[in-house]
Amino acid sequence: MLQIRNFIDGAFVDGAEGKTFAKRSPLDNRVIGEVAEAGRADVDRAVAAGRRAVKGPWKKLKLEDRVDLLYALADEMTRRFDDFVAAESSDTGMPLATARHMCARGAANFKIFADVVKNVPSEFFEMATPDGAGAINYALRRPVGVVGVVCPWNAPLLLMTWKVGPALACGDAVVVKPSEETPQTAALLGEAMNTVGIPAGVYNVVHGFGPGSAGEFVTTHPGISAITFTGETRTGAAIMKAAADGARPVSLEMGGKNTAIIFADADLDKAVEGTMRSCFLNTGQVCLGTERVLVERPFFDTFVAALKDAVGKLKIGPPDDPGAAMGPLISLEHREKVLSYYRKAVEEGANVVIGGRALEMPGELNKGAWVQPTIWTGLPDTASVWNDEIFGPCCHISPFDTEEEAIERANATQYGLSSAIWTRDLARAHRVAAEVEAGVVWVNSWFLRDLRTAFGGMKNSGIGREGGVHSLEFYTELKNVCVKL
Ligand code: NAD
Repeated sequence: MLQIRNFIDGAFVDGAEGKTFAKRSPLDNRVIGEVAEAGRADVDRAVAAGRRAVKGPWKKLKLEDRVDLLYALADEMTRRFDDFVAAESSDTGMPLATARHMCARGAANFKIFADVVKNVPSEFFEMATPDGAGAINYALRRPVGVVGVVCPWNAPLLLMTWKVGPALACGDAVVVKPSEETPQTAALLGEAMNTVGIPAGVYNVVHGFGPGSAGEFVTTHPGISAITFTGETRTGAAIMKAAADGARPVSLEMGGKNTAIIFADADLDKAVEGTMRSCFLNTGQVCLGTERVLVERPFFDTFVAALKDAVGKLKIGPPDDPGAAMGPLISLEHREKVLSYYRKAVEEGANVVIGGRALEMPGELNKGAWVQPTIWTGLPDTASVWNDEIFGPCCHISPFDTEEEAIERANATQYGLSSAIWTRDLARAHRVAAEVEAGVVWVNSWFLRDLRTAFGGMKNSGIGREGGVHSLEFYTELKNVCVKL
């Protein structure tokens, strides 16, 4: 049985109240670990350790040395790559190939933001004054302090380092609250921090749940200077309310209901391959994933048949099955949510092209959170599965007739995270990309990420942008110095 502990001030510790909770495997619902739950006093200690670090050893390091440490950390993660992959896959049940992809991107997050902080200049303005002598203005960036990092379970290491990377690069300390479903890689990262010599208190991890537990204790703590969050939209709203006390800034990356728009002139093979990935990668548990597919009518039947064929060939199995491309959902609870949408789709009159049920698995695996990948057609745009974020391996495919109609229907959602456009007509691709209300738009691709670019959602999908220099806006305070000459 794994013992997963909090990481506070450079040491692995149990919660002061001695509380623990069980970590279950998504593969067969077996308890695989006991996690130490942090109480208010533990969060207090973590925040205090963070504050000492940002005023002391972390602040005193030269920028070059901080950047070198972050490079060393990324290298240590690469050296222990197999441990990170095993931990990520054990928590989530994701295929090893998916876990490898996610963990590699997790390590890269430290290098990219080290580079940004080292290389990006700040602003400078000369100004005239009445006496003719003039003045100059220059900007300094300073760390915001201790950042609360609240994370989801769907890509735990990747999404956590996406926040911790820029925070540390900017000279902040962090108190991370990983999802209660996926505590392992955040804890493992503590070992890597100690190995490379990141000062104690810079990186802290407190385990637990949301309300009445570590999540609430972190987000309501007055010593937390800013809160960055990835997760569901309604949790983001609760966190924003908590952040209002003390007027703390928030960066919120929240839910999505993303549309792929496939024009009849698209390369069929590429559009099918890309849509397959965007709907079913990580068992559909990707915030940027596609759950709504719009296909231009002349192409509709061909596309539906081709996607059905590809889904039929999808190999589903546990991580140790070398051919498996899809694993289980994160938990039985989440499976119940996904299956409730599978039922709703049928009640609302969907044509089930493929899938639609829980997946029968052999032996003990049948106790796990397995579902069939599912495609529906035939529902109006008012249907639940067309509007609600399901976060499972499923999509509804609808035909459309004009470009204007596709844009209007893609935008008819409370969310605005991502979209994928498939066409060979470049002028149209640019036109549609400009009109779609989404923070990230892919043309003839999906999930291709240059970490220097802005990332975030419109509408109920988020507040703020992170990535490249945009992360500096959140993780630093920009200060203007005006010098009269
Ligand atoms: P969630 O909102 O249930 O939980 C996220 C985290 O918030 C967890 O650590 C949880 O313990 C904590 N939490 C819950 N209630 C809280 C509260 N009141 N105060 C403080 N912390 C609280 O989300 P999830 O189910 O873990 O993740 C799936 C969701 O994340 C989906 O909606 C998905 O779209 C979204 N997501 C968004 C992005 C993005 O970049 N926009 C990326 C990945 C996932």
